Amino acid sequence: MKVHVQKYSAVATWKWDVAEDEVCGICRVQFDGTCPSCKYPGEDCPLLVGKCGHSFHMHCIFDWIGTESSKGLCPMCRQKFEFEES
Ligand SMILES: [Zn+2]
Ligand SMILES: [Zn+2]
Ligand SMILES: [Zn+2]
Repeated sequence: MKVHVQKYSAVATWKWDVAEDEVCGICRVQFDGTCPSCKYPGEDCPLLVGKCGHSFHMHCIFDWIGTESSKGLCPMCRQKFEFEES
Protein backbone atom coordinates (compact mmCIF):
# COMPACT_ATOMS: atom_id res chain seq x y z
CA MET A 1 0.00 0.00 0.00
CA LYS A 2 1.36 3.32 -0.94
CA VAL A 3 0.91 5.93 1.69
CA HIS A 4 0.57 9.40 0.40
CA VAL A 5 1.82 11.79 3.01
CA GLN A 6 0.30 15.17 2.71
CA LYS A 7 1.74 18.24 4.22
CA TYR A 8 0.41 18.26 7.72
CA SER A 9 0.69 20.38 10.77
CA ALA A 10 3.18 18.95 13.23
CA VAL A 11 1.34 20.79 15.96
CA ALA A 12 -2.00 19.15 15.31
CA THR A 13 -0.63 15.68 14.67
CA TRP A 14 1.08 13.86 17.46
CA LYS A 15 3.05 11.07 15.86
CA TRP A 16 5.74 9.13 17.62
CA ASP A 17 7.02 7.61 14.41
CA VAL A 18 8.15 10.90 12.97
CA ALA A 19 11.89 10.74 12.54
CA GLU A 20 13.39 12.30 15.59
CA ASP A 21 15.82 14.40 13.69
CA GLU A 22 13.18 16.13 11.61
CA VAL A 23 11.23 17.89 14.30
CA CYS A 24 12.15 19.46 17.57
CA GLY A 25 11.36 16.96 20.33
CA ILE A 26 9.86 19.65 22.49
CA CYS A 27 7.72 21.88 20.30
CA ARG A 28 7.34 19.38 17.41
CA VAL A 29 8.11 22.07 14.86
CA GLN A 30 10.42 21.14 12.02
CA PHE A 31 13.91 22.48 12.25
CA ASP A 32 13.54 24.72 9.26
CA GLY A 33 10.94 26.60 11.25
CA THR A 34 11.32 28.38 14.54
CA CYS A 35 10.37 27.50 18.04
CA PRO A 36 7.15 29.03 19.36
CA SER A 37 9.07 31.90 20.96
CA CYS A 38 10.56 33.08 17.68
CA LYS A 39 8.88 34.77 14.78
CA TYR A 40 11.40 34.29 12.00
CA PRO A 41 13.44 31.29 10.93
CA GLY A 42 17.13 31.89 10.89
CA GLU A 43 20.04 32.79 13.04
CA ASP A 44 18.16 33.60 16.19
CA CYS A 45 16.89 30.09 16.72
CA PRO A 46 19.80 27.69 16.29
CA LEU A 47 19.66 23.97 16.89
CA LEU A 48 21.38 22.38 19.79
CA VAL A 49 22.43 18.79 19.35
CA GLY A 50 22.88 16.91 22.57
CA LYS A 51 25.48 14.26 23.16
CA CYS A 52 22.64 11.76 23.33
CA GLY A 53 21.91 12.55 19.67
CA HIS A 54 18.65 14.39 20.15
CA SER A 55 18.36 17.89 18.84
CA PHE A 56 16.16 20.78 19.79
CA HIS A 57 15.71 24.43 19.16
CA MET A 58 18.02 26.26 21.49
CA HIS A 59 15.13 28.15 23.07
CA CYS A 60 13.07 25.03 23.56
CA ILE A 61 15.79 23.07 25.33
CA PHE A 62 16.84 26.03 27.43
CA ASP A 63 13.26 26.54 28.55
CA TRP A 64 12.99 22.85 29.32
CA ILE A 65 16.26 22.66 31.22
CA GLY A 66 15.17 25.73 33.14
CA THR A 67 12.15 23.94 34.54
CA GLU A 68 12.46 22.13 37.84
CA SER A 69 10.87 18.94 36.55
CA SER A 70 13.43 18.50 33.78
CA LYS A 71 16.22 17.68 36.25
CA GLY A 72 18.60 18.54 33.43
CA LEU A 73 17.54 15.49 31.44
CA CYS A 74 16.86 15.15 27.76
CA PRO A 75 13.07 15.12 27.31
CA MET A 76 13.36 12.40 24.69
CA CYS A 77 15.59 9.79 26.27
CA ARG A 78 15.94 10.93 29.89
CA GLN A 79 19.69 10.95 29.82
CA LYS A 80 21.52 13.93 31.19
CA PHE A 81 21.35 16.53 28.48
CA GLU A 82 24.73 17.82 27.49
CA PHE A 83 25.75 19.53 24.31
CA GLU A 84 28.98 20.51 22.71
CA GLU A 85 29.69 24.12 23.43
CA SER A 86 31.09 26.00 20.53
ZN1 LIG B 1 11.44 23.53 19.41
ZN1 LIG C 1 13.61 30.15 19.11
ZN1 LIG D 1 18.22 12.41 24.23
